[in-house]
Amino acid sequence: MTMRLLLREAAESLFLQRCVACGRFGAALHSECLRTLTHAEAPRCLRCWRPGITGTCAACTAAPSAFQALRAPFRFDGVARRALLEAKFAGISALLEPLAEAAAVVPSNWPIDAVAPVPLHPRCERQRGYNQAALLAAVVAERLGVPCEPRLLRRVRVTPPRLDWMP
Ligand SMILES: [Zn+2]
Ligand SMILES: [Zn+2]
Repeated sequence: MTMRLLLREAAESLFLQRCVACGRFGAALHSECLRTLTHAEAPRCLRCWRPGITGTCAACTAAPSAFQALRAPFRFDGVARRALLEAKFAGISALLEPLAEAAAVVPSNWPIDAVAPVPLHPRCERQRGYNQAALLAAVVAERLGVPCEPRLLRRVRVTPPRLDWMP
């Protein structure tokens, strides 16, 4: 954990937090409010999680992606969108833990060896002070009971921030 993150966490704990979903004070996202987020419901492509598909979509059948399967717990709208964007760009790290808990729900038959966060480019990580994906991954790994491997992936080029990665 970087010094900047420690300072931010200390600053957050000094002020009463306001829930991103209901606006009441007491938490960055109440657990009961977390349950009201819109789930990414089936049917979806079993590989890329595209909505409205039973089985595997045409794109995945024609040219399978490098990954075997993707899952996202929520649709990227409403409170889920706001919570993620605030966690990512406003640095509200108190949102990361509830979001990571929700993201740790994966099919029980997946043979998971480790959780690997997608790294930031070193220049971006220096600017932001921390990589929110690494913080999420650590909580997800803990929940799944597998190691977190932050050095498994390496970013080789800078890409613009993703706002649309969730289905
Ligand atoms: Zn709330
Ligand atoms: Zn697909």
